[in-house]
Amino acid sequence: MSADATLLVLNAGSSSIKFAVYPWDAPGGGPDRKGQAHGLGGDRPRLRMTTAGGETAEEDLAESTHRHALQRLLDWLDEHVGYGSLHAVGHRIVHGGTDFHAPVRLTDANMDALEALSGLAPLHQPHNLAPARALAELRPELPQVGCFDTAFHRTQPAVAQRFALPREWTQRGVLRYGFHGLSYEAVAARLAQDYPDLAQRRVIVGHLGNGASLCALDAGRSVATSMGFTALDGLPMGQRCGALDPGVVLYLLDQGLSRDEIEDMLYHRSGLLGMSGISHDMRQLLDSDAPAAAEAVATYVYRAAREIGSLAVALGGLDALVFTAGIGENAAAVRQGIVEQLAWLGFRLDTEANRANRRAVQAEGSPPVLVIPTDEEGMIARHTRALLS
Ligand code: ADP
Repeated sequence: MSADATLLVLNAGSSSIKFAVYPWDAPGGGPDRKGQAHGLGGDRPRLRMTTAGGETAEEDLAESTHRHALQRLLDWLDEHVGYGSLHAVGHRIVHGGTDFHAPVRLTDANMDALEALSGLAPLHQPHNLAPARALAELRPELPQVGCFDTAFHRTQPAVAQRFALPREWTQRGVLRYGFHGLSYEAVAARLAQDYPDLAQRRVIVGHLGNGASLCALDAGRSVATSMGFTALDGLPMGQRCGALDPGVVLYLLDQGLSRDEIEDMLYHRSGLLGMSGISHDMRQLLDSDAPAAAEAVATYVYRAAREIGSLAVALGGLDALVFTAGIGENAAAVRQGIVEQLAWLGFRLDTEANRANRRAVQAEGSPPVLVIPTDEEGMIARHTRALLS
């Protein structure tokens, strides 16, 4: 292996491919370079790259396909990092089903098995796998590793994973899988490093980004989470509805909406966007004077606090709260709203520390309330190194 060996982390979604390049030999450090191809499938696909020095370059892509974006990204890496130094690739893959409960080498057989799970995550799984397939053709000797958003939750007891549906459907894989697992794992690893005593106790982590969920950690292991069979469940999100009486879906069907129209509504036109009619973006809603924006934020906060109460039951108590991702790390007003509704559990914030997004934001006498940046790409890099070393 060359001394300047690198590790590429890819997170490919429906309209973007995010990437980060890590030195192979510097576990624990951040990426040297990162960026994303975005707007794929749209009118103006672009590739944005941030170099080691922190400068950002952006260019138009000639085609809006994932394949073209990947090829251009590899060319850019070749120019700036050196293709030859690329030692391995780690991929974020949304669904590992019940079988993939840890990262794996992406052999042809494993990719076939993961492809077969596409029905469980049709909007994400095919996009996650496509770059791995393409790289297997372009560079068959390059080791590739798949890391799953569902894997971290496979430690949950059966009672937490089961729906109250006929057994046949449970056996056919209609389960509460949970998502954002790489984010929770990254936060659990950070807790273990920086707060080893707390990491052994009962902690609820809120991953509040465009997507949002909560996870109950008992001694660093997931025992319950707010997301279920799909990434629609649980908390209201930027554009997704969160938990919904399934009877609403039947009613919408009866009202003449097609399956695709309902999918579009639940995934893209609900959540903060749907409730406010203004934006999916929390920062914009917090800056807005419109009553509908305040109503949307109030419902978001209320639902998060209620779900924390539910997860506290799963844990049999609660010793600390952690906020992560875009809203969790930056939106002081949202943290304040949620924690105010948890006063009955003894939680209180230090207003100043919270406003400043400090690491520990609880008031004296309150159990810890921490703000910890998530690092899903870093987690994939760690897993990839560990599996291949
Ligand atoms: P993704 O899930 O796409 O990775 P992020 O984790 O980046 O998303 O979270 C995006 C959300 O974080 C948006 O709703 C955005 O408004 C919110 N956010 C980011 N910064 C702030 C801020 N300073 N104040 C309030 N909300 C913020």
